Amino acid sequence: MHQVSVVVPMPAHSALGDALSYTAPSPLPPGRLVRVPLGSRQVLGVVWADADREETAPVDPSRLKPVVEVLDDIPPLGAHWCRLIEFAARYYQRAVGEVALAALPPALRELDAVRLARRLARKRPAPALSGTASAEDSLNPAATAPSLTAEQHAALDTWSNAKGTYLLWGATGSGKTEVYLQAAERALQEPGAQVLVMVPEINLTPQLQARFEARFQPLFGAHAVVSLHSGMTPAQRLQSWLAAHLGRARVVLGTRMAVFASMPGLRLIAVDEEHDPSYKAQDGARHSARDLAVYRGKQEGVGVVLGSATPSLESWLAAERGRYRRLDMPTRVGAAALPQVRLVDMRLQPHGAALAPSLVAALSERVARGEQALVLLNRRGYAPVLACGACEWKSDCPNCSAYRVFHRSDRSLRCHHCGLAERVPRACPECGNVDIAPVGRGTERLEEQLTSLLADVRGPSGEPVRIGRIDADTTRAAGALQAQLAQVHAGEVDVLVGTQMIAKGHDFRRVTLVAVPQADNALFASDFRAPERLFALLMQAGGRAGRDAGFSAGAELWLQTHNPTHPLFVALRRHDFAAFAQQELAERERAGLPPYVHQALLRADARSQDQAQQFLRDAAELAADLAAAHRVQMYSPVPLSLQRVANVERAQLLVEASSRARLQAYLAAWRQRFSALRPKGLIRWMVDVDPQSI
Ligand code: ADP
Ligand code: ZN
Ligand code: ZN
Repeated sequence: MHQVSVVVPMPAHSALGDALSYTAPSPLPPGRLVRVPLGSRQVLGVVWADADREETAPVDPSRLKPVVEVLDDIPPLGAHWCRLIEFAARYYQRAVGEVALAALPPALRELDAVRLARRLARKRPAPALSGTASAEDSLNPAATAPSLTAEQHAALDTWSNAKGTYLLWGATGSGKTEVYLQAAERALQEPGAQVLVMVPEINLTPQLQARFEARFQPLFGAHAVVSLHSGMTPAQRLQSWLAAHLGRARVVLGTRMAVFASMPGLRLIAVDEEHDPSYKAQDGARHSARDLAVYRGKQEGVGVVLGSATPSLESWLAAERGRYRRLDMPTRVGAAALPQVRLVDMRLQPHGAALAPSLVAALSERVARGEQALVLLNRRGYAPVLACGACEWKSDCPNCSAYRVFHRSDRSLRCHHCGLAERVPRACPECGNVDIAPVGRGTERLEEQLTSLLADVRGPSGEPVRIGRIDADTTRAAGALQAQLAQVHAGEVDVLVGTQMIAKGHDFRRVTLVAVPQADNALFASDFRAPERLFALLMQAGGRAGRDAGFSAGAELWLQTHNPTHPLFVALRRHDFAAFAQQELAERERAGLPPYVHQALLRADARSQDQAQQFLRDAAELAADLAAAHRVQMYSPVPLSLQRVANVERAQLLVEASSRARLQAYLAAWRQRFSALRPKGLIRWMVDVDPQSI
């Protein structure tokens, strides 16, 4: 009998360590998928190389359990993949098995699904994602590559298939996607080569998938492009995963989960909109898929390109310091102009007006000319709060430290955190007053207000204005988002109201005006990244206007603000990301904030806030000597800004160091100590390395 090490889905704080030992009738290669007994269950596991495992006490082989099944018609996962998993586990303070199994498609755990998929993969691998624009749609304007602009050329030639990490800093509409496409095409000339393209939210950009399919299906066959994202069924995900793992898929287009795709022929990685916060997982290992992509590229010796009009300050600084090489594409394709930024000083407008009269006039003009407008408000529902005019009652959520949002369409009060939904009461539950009123404004209300403000506006042939809305509420049904986006592309909507879902990625050709009625919302938020996020969102929103040179003269981005002289808006007005980044980095450096320091959070969820904070205090006490030795600063435990969700109290403790390596060493040692704590009332703890909000 041979002894094998197998990693299984075990959380970091289990006492069993990373890999478990089993026996098998013959030696098994690392990366081989197996099913093994674990307690009373059978689980999927991955055979792991022993080499750098910590010495554990020798086990008596007669006491080991045998591997139940070896999935030997799926090739083993490669050494590169295993190294990526090990790195992610170490860096994000997890167990290898936890990260490895979370990185595999869930359907692999069910044998029947695996068998089925294997059969399917043999016949017809990985279908195109259902519900997206079909490739045929775009095969007619898009299949042949356009000749590149000079800027695109320069970027592509510098980058090419070279190794290293590149920051493609390109204005919205400068043709970044075209650069990814042509770089991919070059890389794919090599037989068996594969390309990984990551995007923040693929559901929002079926257009992008269609572009990739139109380009690569004619060259490499109908199954050359597969996607990987959470909107797929487990069976679809498994098929895409297998197609990538078996080398049949040449291009994998996916969200953050795709960074873990097994791609034996990987030659190139592109990360689109690299600044997007959705690359940071908010559960599991809380990994940054963007950062792991950079690691993966280095480890496998393949080039990585991070693309954005508004790079994260982390990436920007890395480029300044020469760790990444910057490729600049400041101008839009076809000489389309960037939108002119107009700041509306809301201090000078009629009190309580949702939209300034000048903005309403501008919207009307666009509609009359047959152009389209987007109105962006990052808050869904009708109003964020309902309040009683006679007493103090507000629509609090009983389970969370948040208000329930008023949704008018179904007359409900809904908590966006725990999901609690109830019908709106007829009268104040506290005092019986019937005069309870919405406070503030969400997309539903804005749509209603626009409908009345633009009621008399007519399109070029006299037709009444058509107002649409896209947010999480209007797009719940399968395919609804695609259908609504298709309407916008087809010109069946004149004014589109929506949350940030409408700001991202879309290549709307006839939009000439984008308005942000509450541009100040994030200006004074407590999170130090709020200005960076706001700048990126506004640039990206503005980037939807005037993308077609035929419509770009007169394209405008309207911002309603109470702070028109704020430096953020001044830089935005000049489309000057570099100036903004410089200001912001200078401030971060002065204040000792990332990217100049490295942070991690220990978070605790507990029955009471006291218990959560007590755990954190105990954990800190255990590590006072470690913190001093590693020159790590530990702060006091504090409640999260959203302190209670679904009756769970949440607290966190921030740790900080000027060196990533010291922070890493500290975290690993600290985790060993505090994971033994078993305090009363604690529900769970988790470590968040490089947290995106604190
Ligand atoms: P970005 O990703 O930078 O926002 P895209 O790659 O989506 O920009 O390009 C914007 C638009 O310009 C798209 O409609 C695209 O098809 C078109 N485009 C890109 N590159 C070229 C080119 N070299 N010649 C003509 N059209 C191009
Ligand atoms: Zn009342
Ligand atoms: Zn709630």
